[in-house]
Amino acid sequence: MSKKITKSDIVRRADKLARMAGLADVHSAELSPPSADLTAAELDALQSELQAIVPPSNRGAGDSILIAFSAKYLPALADALRAASDASHRTTLSALINILSLLPQPITNAYFRRFLRSPHCARARLPTLVASAFVAGIDIRAPSSPGEVCEFISHSLQWGDTSIGNDQLASIDAPVRRALAPKLAALESEDGFAQLPQLERAGIGRLAGILECIEHVPGYLASSYDYLQGRVTGQRECMVCMKHDRLLACSVCKTVKYCGERCQMKGWKEHQLRCYAPAFAYD
Ligand SMILES: [Zn+2]
Ligand SMILES: [Zn+2]
Repeated sequence: MSKKITKSDIVRRADKLARMAGLADVHSAELSPPSADLTAAELDALQSELQAIVPPSNRGAGDSILIAFSAKYLPALADALRAASDASHRTTLSALINILSLLPQPITNAYFRRFLRSPHCARARLPTLVASAFVAGIDIRAPSSPGEVCEFISHSLQWGDTSIGNDQLASIDAPVRRALAPKLAALESEDGFAQLPQLERAGIGRLAGILECIEHVPGYLASSYDYLQGRVTGQRECMVCMKHDRLLACSVCKTVKYCGERCQMKGWKEHQLRCYAPAFAYD
């Protein structure tokens, strides 16, 4: 029987991951830009930590750790990614994108979902940064994969704020969106593509489909965003009993709603492992 993970274990593991990725503690006064790229040894250590958090046999095992990480470190990660990109620190850039690609998807990870629409994400221009680094070529290592990075890019298109892109049609600038399509086609025509796991191939194909729709289907991202919002549980109904009236948001995280104290008490055991006051502003 596996030992039950406690909230303090979860937070400790999230802090450790952030430290290994070179992300300053968000509670310290200033995030100083990293003066040097990650070394090969630092990258190896970070990759083994990621493999321990997201084991191949049970990929969901680390969800609570990565959700805690999302609540606390996404702003620092976005700033560090910007700095690594400006300084051409390729190893750091790759490592940070590997982490992003492993975050539980926005539909189940409220902090990831909210961060994609936060002013901080807009300022760092995170979606365009990640997509252009992917086009230019980054070092993607297990447990991540090109399919996972494509999934991250798809999420940032589907959940992101379209007004931050240069043509206001998507969160990623138009020239970078146009450069993605041939990159995906090249991946799909590589030897061995057919042997990749189905999920991996699906991640690449899904991004190609979304890019097509953005260019050819008016209002596609707005309607897909509405649809996805409707699928998030605990937003338009009580998280526990599914009732729709007199809902109150959890006062700490504001990511889930309840019809009253009884349901909140009932849901707390499960919710507490995902309840954090986030390190960034959101509505
Ligand atoms: Zn209820
Ligand atoms: Zn909460």
